[in-house]
Amino acid sequence: MKIKNLNNALSLIVYKVQKAQKVHGFFSEGDKILMGVSGGKDSLLLLEVFGELCSKRKYNLEVTPVHIKIKNIGYNINFDAIHQICDHYHFKLKIIEADIDFDPDHKKGPCFVCSWHRRKLLYATARELGCNKIALGHHMDDAVQTLLMNMIYHGSISSMPVSLSMFQGELEIIRPLLFVSEKEIIEYKNIRNFPELIKDCPYGSDTKRNTMKELIEVFEKINPSAGLNIFRSMSKIFPAYLPERGKGIIEGLNEIHPPKSNAGPNDCEAEN
Ligand code: SF4
Repeated sequence: MKIKNLNNALSLIVYKVQKAQKVHGFFSEGDKILMGVSGGKDSLLLLEVFGELCSKRKYNLEVTPVHIKIKNIGYNINFDAIHQICDHYHFKLKIIEADIDFDPDHKKGPCFVCSWHRRKLLYATARELGCNKIALGHHMDDAVQTLLMNMIYHGSISSMPVSLSMFQGELEIIRPLLFVSEKEIIEYKNIRNFPELIKDCPYGSDTKRNTMKELIEVFEKINPSAGLNIFRSMSKIFPAYLPERGKGIIEGLNEIHPPKSNAGPNDCEAEN
């Protein structure tokens, strides 16, 4: 069902985030949170969610939106929506500009190198700002795509946790939108009229993430709940019914089928 009212649509997503917060406790009163803002629909929504949580739901959080601009990669965004949301909620946007040592022929692929540098800059900026958490705009579909990428390209089962402690607890990565589907976010984006993210990066047209998206669309033609069920399956694992009962590498498998090296995930984090 399409939600017509903008406030209701945002309230519904804030409600879902609060419900997930009650279970997972990804933020606490007084947290200093760096929020990664790419300018895509997911990060714009997360920015508004934080705005609502701080202004209307009275969460005592100090949120600093940070945009990482890699100057030597052709990737441009429209800042109007980011500035408008930041002004509305009195957030002070920080833009970090950097050139990275970028080798497009790196064996792990340009997107791996780009994402790795972006993440490194986020960590450094969080330290500089004294933040104890970094919030990212990943949603449920991102987690499903990541799971499939890791299974298909790396032969392992892992995805995106809702929170992850890093550097001996110095920093925590949190993903408040992980229980919100991309469909809900697109619906909100259309009602809210967020600008389209201009995807003009020369390396962005054929990411593995896009391939996973297409794959999930095929699954959903077979069963409309396929994406949600794959997400759900990550919390419903029966080790006793796995080949080696969850022990690790299946004994002898590597001798029978030697693992082949794969390129790292070709995954544009800048679009979240
Ligand atoms: S597609 Fe995204 S991750 Fe890949 S190089 Fe371009 S901006 Fe970076």
